[in-house]
Amino acid sequence: MPVVSLLPCAAYENRLLTDAIRKSLSNIGFDVKTFKNARVVVKPNLLMPAKDEKAIITHSEFFRAVVQIVKESGGTPILLESPAIHSLARTLKKTAYGRVLESEGIETADPGITRTLHYEDAKKFKHIDISEGYFDADIILSLPKFKTHGITYITGAVKMLFGAIPGVEKSKMHMRAPTPEEFSEFILDLYGAMTYGFSPPKPIIHIMDAVCVQEGEGPGTAGKPRWLNAVLAGDNGIAIDYAAAMVAGLDIKKALTVVNGFKRDYGVSSPDEIKVVGAAIDDLRVDDFEPATGNSIFSNMFRWPFNTTTFKNLFLDRPAPQEDRCTLCYQCKKICASGAISESSGRKQVPAYDYDICIRCYCCLEICPEAAIQKQRGRLQWVLGA
Ligand code: SF4
Ligand code: SF4
Repeated sequence: MPVVSLLPCAAYENRLLTDAIRKSLSNIGFDVKTFKNARVVVKPNLLMPAKDEKAIITHSEFFRAVVQIVKESGGTPILLESPAIHSLARTLKKTAYGRVLESEGIETADPGITRTLHYEDAKKFKHIDISEGYFDADIILSLPKFKTHGITYITGAVKMLFGAIPGVEKSKMHMRAPTPEEFSEFILDLYGAMTYGFSPPKPIIHIMDAVCVQEGEGPGTAGKPRWLNAVLAGDNGIAIDYAAAMVAGLDIKKALTVVNGFKRDYGVSSPDEIKVVGAAIDDLRVDDFEPATGNSIFSNMFRWPFNTTTFKNLFLDRPAPQEDRCTLCYQCKKICASGAISESSGRKQVPAYDYDICIRCYCCLEICPEAAIQKQRGRLQWVLGA
């Protein structure tokens, strides 16, 4: 049964935060002695350069409290995060993180160096390129900021892991999974990979900054800061997001990463299985939290033009079978979950691809025994710098 620690915390004061975070770890049965001699990758939400007060990013003092606990316990914390558009260096400089890193002596890992994480039990995206630093970690500490979100309704512990994909590759993922349903399923594939895909398995603990969150049209500059006065923690991101959404009094049916996450049974398949310890949800629940309408400029920007096949065909690599190698074994057709591959028609002795429905998961390319499928660049791909 997944345990979620829920504790009140009403200010970004160091003593309050370290007390709440230490107690959270203890509540979920995590012994801080585990940090001793460990390389601990700490991933805050650094969506963009923003002031702490805007509640767009994990509060820098929240991050400070976490790295202090890791250091005091004999571990080495390393910051790893990939902002949406800006470089990590610029984001750190333009936020209070720069000062915190300097005063605490914390190093960063380069989010742009990637390695492929394979997770065969994923629904569609079985091979995802993430920042290599996660592979080098002994322990991953993810520090999500709870916010409303125009596409996924909420962003928390599950959606947070999108930042493991570097920079512009994130935009490509929006194109490959353009609808809210598809995007949520992709996020769950990524969550599954980060939770179960490392070999050997890597402990991943989520400590959520829900002290001051965002309501309304989050998760960026259009969202409004709102004090929720809570710290949540656990090793099951879906359970944490459920508990946070309940504290905010949100309609859980709309939180696709939670409801579809329950269906996947990633350690939890229903709210009845979640044990909340510390405070009770009812003690911290608010009844006037403003959800995202999904009609903000941000949400529409991500629905259109990413939702158009023309856009996808121009900006993404397409898998292209090569006649000189293809033996027409059709293993590619078998693996394609989108039904985009059919048998050879016409004179060309290669499978026929429907690029309008191909989601660019590249599973066909991975499976082809003849290495007959190559990536062909989209005509305007250079615009994305890739
Ligand atoms: S898997 Fe490769 S060799 Fe087999 S049909 Fe597809 S492209 Fe051709
Ligand atoms: S054609 Fe290949 S890349 Fe496209 S959806 Fe099917 S398996 Fe994925």
